[in-house]
Amino acid sequence: MPIRPLPDHLINQIAAGEVVERPASVVKELLENAVDAGASRIDIDLEQGGIKRIRIRDNGCGIPKDELSLALSRHATSKISSLEDLEQVRSLGFRGEALPSIASVARLTLSSCYQEAEQGWSLVANSANPSPEPAAHATGTTVEVYDLFFNVPARRKFLKTEKTELSHIEEAVRKLALSRFDISFHLRHNQKTLLQLNSASNRVASERRLAEICGEPFVQQSQYLEHEASGLRLWGWVALPTFSRSQADLQYFYVNQRAVRDRLIAHAVRQAYQDVLYQGRHPAFVLYLEIEPQLVDVNAHPTKHEVRFREGRLIHDFIFHTLHQLLAELRPSAETASPA
Ligand code: ADP
Ligand code: MG
Repeated sequence: MPIRPLPDHLINQIAAGEVVERPASVVKELLENAVDAGASRIDIDLEQGGIKRIRIRDNGCGIPKDELSLALSRHATSKISSLEDLEQVRSLGFRGEALPSIASVARLTLSSCYQEAEQGWSLVANSANPSPEPAAHATGTTVEVYDLFFNVPARRKFLKTEKTELSHIEEAVRKLALSRFDISFHLRHNQKTLLQLNSASNRVASERRLAEICGEPFVQQSQYLEHEASGLRLWGWVALPTFSRSQADLQYFYVNQRAVRDRLIAHAVRQAYQDVLYQGRHPAFVLYLEIEPQLVDVNAHPTKHEVRFREGRLIHDFIFHTLHQLLAELRPSAETASPA
């Protein structure tokens, strides 16, 4: 075959292969956009585990009418415009890939009312009519995604049951909700409310959300911590060793409000718990690391679950020492509590 440029739609579908694995990935991307838009309230409505329909509505800044079609084009973003911006990026998104990728593997409608606009507009992706239609919408944005993978049978085949897909979505919502206590979330599935989280502005309210997401026993048996040194700040909740888990299923770690999976961090936490946990048991924690954006590269993977630290050793040791010391301090009281 001769060399030929790929058509745009196919390029988007290839990119979608990386970012859109299942309904939960769509939810994650749309939630991140709502957060980046400065929303204080996000409503998520699903049908059939998100396979049939995902609708996410926010009250963020909205998108101007003449930028709606740009929002759906590849590599178009309002979040960065230079390498310097990328190096200090604080928004969750910046690649300008999510909407066009999703729109290439599902039916998508984007409706929005920009904060300074008088009315809302709606645009159907890939439709014969490329101009926005007037739509009733309060300031903010609604994205509706129907029939995920309707045109990608190979991917559709890999979808699991409605129940399994829903549980992945719930986890994506929980994960994001733990990153922003100041935002309200409302999750509904087939018209039934599954999660209603009001915005929390103090510790008590935050711990209410924490209990809603991680369970009351976690909150009861965890310790709040806050520690700052050498430009790094770690805060959050770590479970006492008495609340260990048989699986590593209650571990949330955020770097500058972005949920990450990182081997270095996982290692630091595991090491800190090493002396106090039985073999095969896993610690539970919800932790937040705040660090200069320049010290962390978030552009390591399209889904941005992974990050690269510029001073990995420093960060590893900071986390290890902070947790190790805390757990050591907690130990004596645990010992006095048990009968001699
Ligand atoms: P990215 O988030 O990487 O910029 P996306 O494809 O997810 O790329 O979104 C493209 C652009 O569309 C964003 O940069 C933003 O300007 C706009 N946008 C998407 N979703 C929203 C939203 N919920 N509210 C406001 N603007 C949005
Ligand atoms: Mg995005």
